[in-house]
Amino acid sequence: MSPYDAPAVYANPPALIDGYGRNVTYLRLSVTDRCDLRCVYCMAEHMVFLPKAEVLSLEELERVASAFVALGVRKLRITGGEPLVRKGLMSLMGELSRHLRSGALDELTLTTNGTRLTELADELARVGVKRINVSLDTLKPELFRRLTRGGDIAKVLTGIDAAQAAGLAVKINAVALKNDNAAELPELVAWAHGRGLDMTLIETMPMGEVDEDRTDQFLSLADVRRDFESFWTLTDIPLTTGGPARYVRVEETGGRLGFITPLTHNFCDLCNRVRLTCTGTLHTCLGQDDATDLRAVMRAGADDAGLIDAIRQGIDGKPKGHDFHIGRGEAPAVARHMSTTGG
Ligand code: SAM
Ligand code: SF4
Repeated sequence: MSPYDAPAVYANPPALIDGYGRNVTYLRLSVTDRCDLRCVYCMAEHMVFLPKAEVLSLEELERVASAFVALGVRKLRITGGEPLVRKGLMSLMGELSRHLRSGALDELTLTTNGTRLTELADELARVGVKRINVSLDTLKPELFRRLTRGGDIAKVLTGIDAAQAAGLAVKINAVALKNDNAAELPELVAWAHGRGLDMTLIETMPMGEVDEDRTDQFLSLADVRRDFESFWTLTDIPLTTGGPARYVRVEETGGRLGFITPLTHNFCDLCNRVRLTCTGTLHTCLGQDDATDLRAVMRAGADDAGLIDAIRQGIDGKPKGHDFHIGRGEAPAVARHMSTTGG
């Protein structure tokens, strides 16, 4: 039993309320900055990865995630980098799944590039994962290879098959890229819906230096939506996840489609989420540089009350909103890469 299962630590009700009255109930936890792919919008071609000592150990990840759960986080998403390349991940997931069994956690989930799902889907289902997000920007093998700098799409497609066979609900996430997959997006949506999968489109976000100019990659989802509406009927669905996605039903396919538009200020007021990097830095806003170093707190030998205090202080400082903007030749709004922060 972890110390966080014991209620005695909390003098106050275990809710994480920020300075603007928002209740934080969703943690995205990055377990590694490493990845077996090098997506062009996410990483530079020659990424320098963090020394192992800087990355939280499995024990530290378990401790800090459990502290958040004890403080009222109900949904935990494991991400990266590519979470499924982290050694020992399945034992961490197994440990964390006790919060599902105790009822403290509603959902334990994962965002993955899908390349290792063929081996791991059954095990994910066994530890209580019900739904996963798989990132896939194209169905064309050559384009996939170029966008991921060398990836093999067959592995992802068989991984998705394995996930569905294991009973996992799969949502496909695709980044909309003006010069690369823009024309293919309707086909990608129809493919996902044809397999009974939800689909979400994401605008590129200015995070971390990559090798291309993002102004060239940026495709407005407002334009994509207008284009879709010229041949599909899109009906708004009142589905709020507290996140930046707005959902519609595509009447012709019968499937659900989400649009994540971080560049338009349309979701900060309802934001219920925070992120913890694989180095233990708490970021309470994806688009701001605010940071609380929970690794330093843990490695300085803080007891549970000290760690909880540090988490509460970090949440207290959650900014009101972000300030993304993509301009030609501009530096990224935040210097850290999505692969470090956890998408
Ligand atoms: N490796 C896993 C994957 O690709 O799903 C999890 C981590 S990845 C950083 C999480 C999500 O962030 C992916 O869907 C990816 O497409 C997205 N992403 C990465 N860099 C991005 C950027 N600059 N703008 C928008 N989305 C980005
Ligand atoms: Fe890896 Fe995911 Fe980033 Fe692609 S988006 S490089 S799969 S971490």
